[in-house]
Amino acid sequence: MSTTTPDGHVHLTQAERDALRARYRIERDKRLRPDGNDQYLEPKGRFAHFVEDPYVQRVERPPVVSEVTVAFIGGGFAGLCTGARMKQAGIADFHVIEGGGDFGGVWYWNRYPGAMCDTAAMVYLPLVEEVGTRPTMKYVFAPEIWRHALRIAEVFGLRDRALFSTNVTLLEWDDADSRWVIHTDRGDRIRARFVAMGTGPLHKPKLPGIPGIESFGGHAFHTSRWDYAWTGGDPAGAPMTKLADKRIGIIGTGATAVQCIPPLGRDAKELYVFQRTPSSIDVRNNHPIDPAWFESLESGWQKKWLMNFATLQTGGFADEDLVKDGWTDIAIRVRDRIVKDLGENGNLLDMALVQKAFEDSDDEKMTEIRARVDAIVKDPATAEKLKPWYRQLCKRPCFHDEYLQTFNRPNVHLVDTDGKGVERIDEAGVWANGKHVDLDGLVFASGFEFATDFTRRCGFETRGIGGETLSEHWKDGMRSVHGIHVHGFPNLFIVSLSQGGGLISNITQNLVEAGTTIAEVVRHAVETGRERVEPTAEAEERWVELIRSAPDTFLGNPECTPGYYNNEGKPLTPRDRLNVGRHPLGPVAYFQYIDDWRRSGRFEGLEFRRAAESVARAG
Ligand code: NDP
Repeated sequence: MSTTTPDGHVHLTQAERDALRARYRIERDKRLRPDGNDQYLEPKGRFAHFVEDPYVQRVERPPVVSEVTVAFIGGGFAGLCTGARMKQAGIADFHVIEGGGDFGGVWYWNRYPGAMCDTAAMVYLPLVEEVGTRPTMKYVFAPEIWRHALRIAEVFGLRDRALFSTNVTLLEWDDADSRWVIHTDRGDRIRARFVAMGTGPLHKPKLPGIPGIESFGGHAFHTSRWDYAWTGGDPAGAPMTKLADKRIGIIGTGATAVQCIPPLGRDAKELYVFQRTPSSIDVRNNHPIDPAWFESLESGWQKKWLMNFATLQTGGFADEDLVKDGWTDIAIRVRDRIVKDLGENGNLLDMALVQKAFEDSDDEKMTEIRARVDAIVKDPATAEKLKPWYRQLCKRPCFHDEYLQTFNRPNVHLVDTDGKGVERIDEAGVWANGKHVDLDGLVFASGFEFATDFTRRCGFETRGIGGETLSEHWKDGMRSVHGIHVHGFPNLFIVSLSQGGGLISNITQNLVEAGTTIAEVVRHAVETGRERVEPTAEAEERWVELIRSAPDTFLGNPECTPGYYNNEGKPLTPRDRLNVGRHPLGPVAYFQYIDDWRRSGRFEGLEFRRAAESVARAG
């Protein structure tokens, strides 16, 4: 029988652990499907408007013909952080091109009710010290995050030369002139000495490939384009009064749904939650940030917090836990168990011990998460269906103090499909488990493409030296130096999670690091009068080999229940492994490495050339 320690941690017997493994396998097998990622649909045809911008009216303008030092494609935190670092590096001529109507990226698009960040504001909000923001809460809601994004733009003067509601259609390298030529859907022709792009890892909405989806006769939208005109309410949390007489369905129970289901449950006449796999819901414990405490922090605190969080969250050792939340709890449990096993049992530190510590901590954590469901959800049958049966990092962990409680409301109905998903959709509603549910509206909380081809996600092609496209260069998987520089594509910088720090819960740390690196490289080129900077083929090959040597992470773990974290349960091909690869020693090692690389001033792996030299090479 399992036991519980005074601090509330559960300890399982070996037999209980074995039973868990067996149950996890059964639950995974129910969900494996041969079509993997192909089960999802792109929002096209009837759903093409799902990706349009509902927040601003497109205003026609004459095409822009201009020449700039640096153009950045994407106005989310990647563009903002890079822009800020450029300005700090003395590069004033910085120009942002963005498809949305303003800065903000995911926080511009995602305005669904209840939207917030699951990562603590002290570390998630980038450049807090630089722009003088004080987060109001430990975890802040979307409008506050968006305001912070706009503040970065304002403080660093990034708005003046920004082009909004403008989509890049083609990026071409003009070798004779050592310039990038950017073509857009506004007919613009912008020549840039350097181009950087942060087009987003998880931004392209996808729809569930459910038979009949296009036949639905009610109102439908994707969570990333919430239709407040139809629901009433607003992103600040005003009640969605227009739902008071409506029957609403929501498909999906991932991190987005977990946040928007509580307000939907509060405001809809009836809410039907169609669940294929339950998320793990740990406590949130949000609280206001004390202004006096915040003001007492010493200058330079954010960098310290960032490294502390990244270290603990990825299983490293640190004297204190500054953020102290569900993310660090996972890692601290593992760490403490390793220390205990080493001390008490006199074991040697080897991979088997580390792996066992991971598994044991995970089993216990997930047992506590399932017990939390029982403690909150009053109907035992509903509670049973809300319990997740997989290891915690198989899917994105969620944290919420109102989600499970919402299922105690009489107007909220959980339609669990036992891993099978919704059967079909017709004009009047949704079929699941052989039963029809009549609906007025349907919300797709079905997520975003992840690790699909870069060009498909960013929506345009990039042609480098000799007209080679990025798609061609990456036909066997991404190739880069540091996840940023690509051979054959001079003066181009990519802000991506891949081949750098990888997918971590605090994505903005990746973006600040990339922005800092790019600004340093550009500054060096400008200061030394070099027209071109490009990684050598050898440096690219060395970095790709390093990425190939990385051990498996949960990304690609075939034992996990399917989801975007593990390529929907399909084993990763060598190409996939490069596309989602990261530094073999993990994000903290990467961040330290890239900091040293920048500080050395040698920019090893890159070649800086004058225009004349480059023309000779190209000819
Ligand atoms: P997800 O991809 O995490 O979730 C999609 C959901 O749709 C899953 O529950 C999936 O079920 C379900 N689904 C798909 N097809 C069907 C079907 N045919 N029938 C029934 N259900 C179906 O998308 P989200 O938008 O929730 O989250 C995406 C990511 O965005 C997060 O993982 C996170 O990285 C980020 N995010 C970050 C937040 C933050 O706090 N910073 C907040 C919200 C999102 P199944 O699990 O079975 O595949």
